[in-house]
Amino acid sequence: MTEIEIERYLAKLSDSKLVELLYRSLAERNSGCDKLLLAETYKAENSGAAHVALVAIPPSGFPITSNERDDFLENGYCRKCEIEVTAIAKEANCPVCNSFVGLT
Ligand SMILES: [Zn+2]
Repeated sequence: MTEIEIERYLAKLSDSKLVELLYRSLAERNSGCDKLLLAETYKAENSGAAHVALVAIPPSGFPITSNERDDFLENGYCRKCEIEVTAIAKEANCPVCNSFVGLT
């Protein structure tokens, strides 16, 4: 598969499937102290302030069945890391410290 074919394949995936695939690909690389993670960002309409949340994958065994874009609709906060987290599920593991995070 060429790089262009890989890019085209990745571009067609849902957000959740893309994140799942990339996090699995990054697992070995992220076994040290430094981690490469994914984040979602947008600017608030009224204030223009940037909002940034790390994208978390659900706990293992959670079925990732969404085929839609923009499917990271659940938001939460990792108290240990003091960072915003977003995921497709009501629960996820913080991508930094692996703590459980409840999302709404
Ligand atoms: Zn954390």
